[in-house]
Amino acid sequence: MAELFYDDDADLSIIQNRKVAVIGYGSQGHAHALSLRDSGVDVRVGLHEGSKSKAKAEEQGLRVVSAAEASAEADVIMVLVPDPLQAQVYEESIAPNLKDGDALFFGHGLNIRYGFIKPPAGVDVAMVAPKGPGHLVRRQYEEGRGVPCIAAVEQDATGNGFALALSYAKGIGGTRAGVIKTTFTEETETDLFGEQAVLCGGASALVKAGFETLVEAGYQPEIAYFECLHELKLIVDLMYEGGLEKMRWSVSETAEWGDYITGPRIITDQTKVEMRKVLAEIQDGTFARNWMDEYHGGLKKYNEYKKQDENHLLETTGKELRKLMSWVDNDDA
Ligand code: NAD
Ligand code: MG
Ligand code: MG
Ligand code: MG
Ligand code: MG
Repeated sequence: MAELFYDDDADLSIIQNRKVAVIGYGSQGHAHALSLRDSGVDVRVGLHEGSKSKAKAEEQGLRVVSAAEASAEADVIMVLVPDPLQAQVYEESIAPNLKDGDALFFGHGLNIRYGFIKPPAGVDVAMVAPKGPGHLVRRQYEEGRGVPCIAAVEQDATGNGFALALSYAKGIGGTRAGVIKTTFTEETETDLFGEQAVLCGGASALVKAGFETLVEAGYQPEIAYFECLHELKLIVDLMYEGGLEKMRWSVSETAEWGDYITGPRIITDQTKVEMRKVLAEIQDGTFARNWMDEYHGGLKKYNEYKKQDENHLLETTGKELRKLMSWVDNDDA
């Protein structure tokens, strides 16, 4: 059974007595920095020269310095720059400013799990990873709620690493919803697998294949869009609220029967064989190495894939239809 921690299990004063540097001010960075500040924590934001986020962070009342200065001032350093840039930012700006007893924090375990960053023995290495997009992390905090987090300690130099991670999680509202204890290995491998096989990759491919099948058979793209993409949110909302059971309770018996007999013809044993291969490539580091090569090689294939899908009939059809549904247009989750 997973170990769960709530507000009463976390001592906010631990993080309030430290100096925190949040490196990066993107999706997660802005949420962590603002909510920690509102929780009475001494926060500074570390950004590179010429960062577009600098003005925004300052406008929101935060002090912005370079990543190196922030790391030197602080004794808890949360690394929230894009994963493929973390090793470089670590080498140039963070490592030279780490002292024994400092804590190095992450929002995702990739760079530690695959050894792209190797912190010295005297520092705590921990993770607080919200299980939701950054803008929701901030909005839930402001509304007195929280996004559940998972927390892990990879290296416990001080012996207080987990209490510090829980305290940090409380500062961003995580313990209001619940924090689950994990390891860097479990978080990294499940996160990569989930986004590739189910949440992003699996769902996108399923939607596209269904849409193409209908359109190629002569049905109107607008009808296919509503059926295969728009309605997916309504179905997933029901799953989120009450599992498969609530979704099946709400749909017609005809839809429920089709669910049972057709689902396994679409996601087959062969799909699971491929899922196990995908998982193996995540576990043995192949995926991470290839992604770093792609990123540092100029993102050529990445940009090709992006462009292909931007021009897909599913996307161009959806763009037009969504204009007619102003309430659907919402850029922050
Ligand atoms: P992002 O791309 O939204 O933001 C990155 C930020 O880093 C930007 O503010 C950018 O200006 C800054 N930056 C870039 N280069 C820099 C440098 N050299 N020095 C200092 N700052 C620099 O990133 P994100 O999506 O918030 O991801 C940050 C981390 O959080 C990653 O480890 C990611 O896996 C993890 N994470 C993200 C989400 C999410 O909701 N996006 C969810 C869970 C975990
Ligand atoms: Mg994830
Ligand atoms: Mg991820
Ligand atoms: Mg229908
Ligand atoms: Mg039903």
